[in-house]
Amino acid sequence: MRVMAQIAMVMNLDKCIGCHTCSVTCKQTWTNRSGTEYVWFNNVETRPGQGYPRAYEDQDVWQGGWQRKHGRLVPRSGGRARRLARLFANPRLPTLDAYYQPWTYDYEILTDAPLGDHVPTAPPRSLTDGRPTAVTGGPNWDDDLGGGPEHLAGDPVLKKMSERVRLEYEQAFMFYLPRICEHCLNPSCVAVCPSGALYKRIEDGVVLVDQDRCRGWRMCVTGCPYKKVYFNHRTGKAEKCTLCYPRLEAGEPTVCSETCVGRLRYLGVMLYDADRVGEAAASPDERDLYAAQLSCFLDPSDPEVARAAEAAGIPHDWVTAARNSPVYALISTYRVALPLHPEYRTMPMVWYVPPLSPVVESLTATGHDGEDPAKLFAAIDALRIPQEYLAHLFTAGDTAPVEAALCRLAAMRAHMRRANLGEEQDPA
Ligand code: SF4
Ligand code: SF4
Repeated sequence: MRVMAQIAMVMNLDKCIGCHTCSVTCKQTWTNRSGTEYVWFNNVETRPGQGYPRAYEDQDVWQGGWQRKHGRLVPRSGGRARRLARLFANPRLPTLDAYYQPWTYDYEILTDAPLGDHVPTAPPRSLTDGRPTAVTGGPNWDDDLGGGPEHLAGDPVLKKMSERVRLEYEQAFMFYLPRICEHCLNPSCVAVCPSGALYKRIEDGVVLVDQDRCRGWRMCVTGCPYKKVYFNHRTGKAEKCTLCYPRLEAGEPTVCSETCVGRLRYLGVMLYDADRVGEAAASPDERDLYAAQLSCFLDPSDPEVARAAEAAGIPHDWVTAARNSPVYALISTYRVALPLHPEYRTMPMVWYVPPLSPVVESLTATGHDGEDPAKLFAAIDALRIPQEYLAHLFTAGDTAPVEAALCRLAAMRAHMRRANLGEEQDPA
């Protein structure tokens, strides 16, 4: 057993209101410089939707050119010359359109539109060339102006779902998905960097870019399946979320956690067995990857783990922090938090509590928000957000862990409601 420590985050999606405070405070702190105008280390996506950059989850487009060789990711191609050509051409970079061009709205339409049956809306207008049709995306385009089913058909997760669910889903609901770099246990950005500029800190697992070593090849931009490395076109260097490491070192939470209006971001320490990561990431069946990653995490209350951690030089304070970590409890003890796209095999370390709400109409007809656990469990597979969609986001399509997490959340909700009404004692 080789024990290592990793700072991890869990976000509770039921609590995100899509206010974008996290994105704005992160931007003010980290990317308010020239060359990073389009960069959002933290972004909040509306689901269903195409995300940011657009359709980043479509791995056939972005990742089709890579293969793993001798533990490293290399471009997939035949001869050496072709491989080098592809390496230097790096053809799978997202274009600026996949991020966005700055835009405003054509406000004059609101005042000048002729009288008609419909309320006029202000269409987007490019700030670059002024053409209304030039604007095709933004950091949360799906929320701003994404449109209906035609636009949503571009959601790579929806594409995997059956038509019946897709149609019901498109008409019924949405939820927000805040995203930062996953600070993966098996980071492909580090694996693809030809300059050795990207590295994972031994002490806390934070993934950083050494600005002095970066040569601007941008392999990390194509190599990261979450598209969470950005190119600063002024400095010619790659930049990414730092998990606010200077704040962590001073005992402060990340800016996004501290400023989150919904209080939905939990930060904590996870202990894991580094010897298990490679084997877990190589699990032949995608659907095993959630369980495989779970099996890498170690119980910090186990005296043997605590001894191994201290022998590995992990400070006693960190082992105590891991033991008290809400992140460990949510991920491993209660299993209500799930990884985002484990099928990317990078072993992501930002996990999500899937949204339970909104509940189905039949449950709210009584005026209660699904507080009767018997009814809620009976209808758990008919929640408005299809489990199939959540499963394609969080468990490579396996609905069993999603259903188990939702049932536990439903039981906790029912219990807390009864406790608040004084009908049941809260043992805590
Ligand atoms: Fe690297 Fe992307 Fe993983 Fe972040 S999410 S550690 S940038 S591979
Ligand atoms: Fe969601 Fe919190 Fe970000 Fe607001 S600040 S969008 S509630 S994660």
